[in-house]
Amino acid sequence: MTSKANTVAFQAGERNIFFHILTACNLSCRHCYINTSQHGTTTLPKETMLKWLELFADPNKKSNVIFLGGEPTMHPDLADGIAKAKELGMAVTVDSNGYLFNNLLEKTSPDLLDYLSFSLDGPDPSVNDPIRGEGVFEVCTTNMGKAVAAGYNVSVIYTVSNLNIEHLHRMIPLLQDIGVKRFFIQVIGLRGNSAKTSAGEQGWQVSPEQWLDVVPRVAIQAAEAGIHVTFPKVFLDPNEKFECAGLVTENFFIFPNGRVYRCPLCEDHPIHALEIKNETLVPNQNMRLTEDNFFQLNIEEGCVMNRLLQPDTISYDAQGKPLHRISCCLLKQEILPV
Ligand code: SF4
Ligand code: SF4
Repeated sequence: MTSKANTVAFQAGERNIFFHILTACNLSCRHCYINTSQHGTTTLPKETMLKWLELFADPNKKSNVIFLGGEPTMHPDLADGIAKAKELGMAVTVDSNGYLFNNLLEKTSPDLLDYLSFSLDGPDPSVNDPIRGEGVFEVCTTNMGKAVAAGYNVSVIYTVSNLNIEHLHRMIPLLQDIGVKRFFIQVIGLRGNSAKTSAGEQGWQVSPEQWLDVVPRVAIQAAEAGIHVTFPKVFLDPNEKFECAGLVTENFFIFPNGRVYRCPLCEDHPIHALEIKNETLVPNQNMRLTEDNFFQLNIEEGCVMNRLLQPDTISYDAQGKPLHRISCCLLKQEILPV
């Protein structure tokens, strides 16, 4: 099998709804980005969850909703949320840590849930469990197998850091064994726990050279093995155009305290562009500057929020010119089996 690479251009007329229905989780991953001081500890009541879904429904747009947490399967009414989203015409994904609480596989069905995505950060317990917790690999891979057997489309998200990049290639035989057809490779962001905790001497973040050397190569190998791979572009080629998703697409990152961000890099700060008040989506009036003011800034480093929040990710030449422009974190590269 061969493969084909595409940059996934931002789609006008499409909306992506990243819906955090609670912030609680049974795990304590070392790189967890959940920030309860910014987003609270509420579990959205069922009726609120269903009403908020309606706020983002638009029959004229292709809409994708991704249920997130915390651990979304800890929400006792997740299956009702999935059914409502499908009724509203949305494509539905659940991102789980693999524990699949509340009998999710029995409570919903592959007809309603388009993708069930599992987070796994290593091809065996010795790599995954020091990051995600003792015993997590076993539970997660067992439940992936059960989900495949029950007819669900299963995907896997692997967050690349210095702790696991050298093991990325070993995910391919594991995904093939389990029957996983889609593989999302993520880059670790310096947010939440990974901004506060040490990953040891080498730090969390991989260098541009390591990323560019390893990730595209493994993605091609996975595609050649029949797996559809998506990973963030991260570094723009010199002639590639920079675009900020906040200006050209409709992405909504909803938190249970009512904050609605347009950019995930902003989520640790109260600069959300929108909020839900009295079951209505309104602009955030509490701040003079919100994230949408930053989206307008045009800088040679590319993404302005990356420059402000993660300046260590950018290297400069002797003239002070950035060696790489950083793409929007939402711009993806896709490698397809052909
Ligand atoms: S599974 Fe997700 S929400 Fe839970 S601790 Fe890990 S990263 Fe955080
Ligand atoms: S990551 Fe950067 S480029 Fe993308 S939406 Fe946020 S500010 Fe814009």
